[in-house]
Amino acid sequence: MKILVIGSGGREHALVWKLAQSPHVTRMWCAPGNAGIAQERLAKNGALVECVNIGAEDLPRLLIFAQEKKIDLTVVGPDNPLALGIVDLFQKNGLRIWGVNQKAAQFESSKVFSQKFMEKYGIPTARAGTFSDAGEAKTFAAGFGGKCAVKADGLALGKGVLICAGVTEANKAIDEILIGKAFGAAGAKIVIQEFLEGVEISLHAICDGKTAKLFPTSQDHKRALDGDLGLNTGGMGTYSPTPFLSVAELKTVGNAILNPWLRGCAAEGIDFRGILYPGIMLVKKGGAGSPLPAAIAQSGAHGVTRPAEIDARVLEFNARFGDPETQVYLTRLENDLVELLDASVSGTLGKIELKWKPQASVCVVMASGGYPGSYPKGKPIHGLAEAAQLPDAKVFHAGTALKENQIVTNGGRVLGVTALGKDLKAAQAAAYAAVQKIHFDGAHFRRDIAAKAFPELFCQP
Ligand code: AMP
Repeated sequence: MKILVIGSGGREHALVWKLAQSPHVTRMWCAPGNAGIAQERLAKNGALVECVNIGAEDLPRLLIFAQEKKIDLTVVGPDNPLALGIVDLFQKNGLRIWGVNQKAAQFESSKVFSQKFMEKYGIPTARAGTFSDAGEAKTFAAGFGGKCAVKADGLALGKGVLICAGVTEANKAIDEILIGKAFGAAGAKIVIQEFLEGVEISLHAICDGKTAKLFPTSQDHKRALDGDLGLNTGGMGTYSPTPFLSVAELKTVGNAILNPWLRGCAAEGIDFRGILYPGIMLVKKGGAGSPLPAAIAQSGAHGVTRPAEIDARVLEFNARFGDPETQVYLTRLENDLVELLDASVSGTLGKIELKWKPQASVCVVMASGGYPGSYPKGKPIHGLAEAAQLPDAKVFHAGTALKENQIVTNGGRVLGVTALGKDLKAAQAAAYAAVQKIHFDGAHFRRDIAAKAFPELFCQP
């Protein structure tokens, strides 16, 4: 099979790496890819993956390329091409493509759509309202004493959510988005959710239009600095599984979300073939809106405990693989990814059983100095060969490029250093051992990825 992967980040490197292991793949391209992707070889014949210089949002050129190369399956990583309708375009032209169509992409591209859908079909979420009028929005937010999340409706590069602690802050956030147009047209409408306190985790489910198969849990680290301080980022690291839900609880929580969601999709004629990635807050049972007791707040330096009885509330839906969640999921996945994505496109997921390695996986993101603000590019990266010698680690590239035979930084998030271990502690130690081998000017990374899972172990490489 000839495969084309679209995107250039750590998620796409993980997708390429895993797809390349499939005996079905004879040739693979990635548009536009990165320096790490260009080093991957196919298990079948040793051929290198070829990067092509076409942007992930350049739909007309991607279509021509896929037609010329007679691609058997295109795999879409990022949300933007999905929201732009790449799946609809390729399908109209008789090409097989994995990812959600434009209608299904609304779960991510419109928070107003998602919130209304959750309410209509009884999916557990925060108490919320949707508004285009600032006055009405302020009255609603005041009902929560201003303790709320104000969310721009559309895609805003992950920056469209403002968390407010009181009425003054909430009013300012509402004005910024609805009147000041801080996020342009993406903020013509907003969702206001009550502020929920609890433990945040990520779920993923692969779907084929009628079946949804849940992945294990993972937990993202969105803030730039240790202890969840600093600015929001695309994600500074993640790990899987989390200790915050037992396998039985995950099943219960998954059913409570996915069953009504599937019913809603059927009722609304949404043919969702891709990944549904809900962001979840675990709150004290019956406690929506009521803050959790101090016990759930951070105990010790970094560890988090949770109450015995929890409810799960969906904060948002994404409609693609998470980044860096993909890096930890795909290092744990046993199945052939080509077969899995193919079943998602064909509507035959019911016949596939997801199999996961029992090991835990931890991904530590190494970022450019200054990220998530402005940062330099072109810094030489040293130590990649040494890190590659470590048996349990895999360094996924995100913002990297090849310049005069040297791999250099080329983005905010540069590398996703990922490792498996017999348990989370072992995986964390292995990931940080690999991080220690790698150097580039200005590199920064969090030292507490996965530390919430075990208060006694605050990693200090
Ligand atoms: P979202 O993109 O909607 O997931 O929001 C981004 C981040 O804001 C989430 O990962 C949470 O950390 C936080 N957040 C969103 N909604 C809420 C809420 N209702 N209560 C508390 N925190 C929230």
